[in-house]
Amino acid sequence: MTRDEARALDAADPLRGFRDRFVLPEGVIYLDGNSLGPLPRATAPALADMIERQWGERLIRSWNEGWIEAPARIGGKIARLIGAGEEEVIVADSTSANLFKLIVAALRLDPARKTIVSELGNFPTDLHIAEGAVGCVPGAVLKAVPRDRIGATLGEDTALLLLTHVHYKTAERFDMAAWTERAHAAGALILWDLSHSAGAVPVDLNGTQADLAVGCGYKYLNGGPGAPAFLHVHTKWQERLANPVSGWMGHSAPFAFEDGYRPAAGVTRWLAGTPAMLGLAGLETGVDLLLEVDPVLIAAKSAALFDSVAAIGDALGLVCVSPRDPALRGSHISFRHPHAYALCQALIAQGVIGDFRDPDVLRFGLTPLYLGHEDVVRAGEILREILESRTYLNPEFSKRNAVT
Ligand SMILES: *Cc1c(COP(=O)(O)O)cnc(C)c1O
Repeated sequence: MTRDEARALDAADPLRGFRDRFVLPEGVIYLDGNSLGPLPRATAPALADMIERQWGERLIRSWNEGWIEAPARIGGKIARLIGAGEEEVIVADSTSANLFKLIVAALRLDPARKTIVSELGNFPTDLHIAEGAVGCVPGAVLKAVPRDRIGATLGEDTALLLLTHVHYKTAERFDMAAWTERAHAAGALILWDLSHSAGAVPVDLNGTQADLAVGCGYKYLNGGPGAPAFLHVHTKWQERLANPVSGWMGHSAPFAFEDGYRPAAGVTRWLAGTPAMLGLAGLETGVDLLLEVDPVLIAAKSAALFDSVAAIGDALGLVCVSPRDPALRGSHISFRHPHAYALCQALIAQGVIGDFRDPDVLRFGLTPLYLGHEDVVRAGEILREILESRTYLNPEFSKRNAVT
């Protein structure tokens, strides 16, 4: 695609207006919104209001002026992005902590079922947390197997199938309906990690009868670095699963100050401690912005951007590890290259920000709200120039940072 063709597509893009709703630094092509979403313009004023008025002036009165409802209110908004009921989602803690709560709860549901099945190569925290959760429940085991053995590993001892809907490295997407059905056929629950899905691809938790889900606030939801995460529990499980982190905010009457724990009704019981209001304010702004957008347009533009970048990769001889069929992937594209880390650093030095995933994956987030076709064509030109000049071999690009 030429620059002129790309400009023509951008001019006709129905999502074009959303680009100005974000702060995007001059000279940067941001291809990492799948890892840290950029700053929405509305966020700084919302945080200023949170800090100066709600905290500074209203002080503790703010808890009764909208703060205490914030986890359920924002959860209800996220529910609309993932096909869940508004009473089934709450915002709390981190994705890691929410995984722990739900995995332990699922392992304690049926004494005859003590196995978690998951995928080798799943996002590390999912497997690490599953390992920790298994250690908290006597007799529990974790079976992490390659993708092609997951089905055969499900059995009458399986309590929970833990899957990440869109793979963080390859962008491969599980068929949510088919895998939920397989888990249920084995008598197990399913827990979907939607970290790379929410705000990126269509998700229909209730249409597929999914039991449980978690996901990140700081990726495609643009909630800000370390934004609180979300947690989903299908209505049918809400009174049957117990939160092992039984904190007072999940109590049915926190301000009765009782000695004993009595879980709140509904999804509120998955709260543990006091909500992080500054983080919630940023998350709500990001979610409100996404709720303005037709998800069909997001999916269509993501597919078009993907095809464009895949064609650039093909022309440069890069090995694409992401599925070509839009129904089988998320909204990022990954290439394998022996010098992936150095290439990534050389690109960042020229303002093209993607990321690297060990050992050899170069990953680009394709986020339709603020990326245009011209951006990806320009990024492709810069990538070509770096590959042809071999500037990525400059030793400064091989120095490993703590965060890649
Ligand atoms: C990003 C991501 C996480 C992050 O978990 P945190 O607790 O926010 O660090 C978890 N799981 C998946 C699949 C992710 O992509």
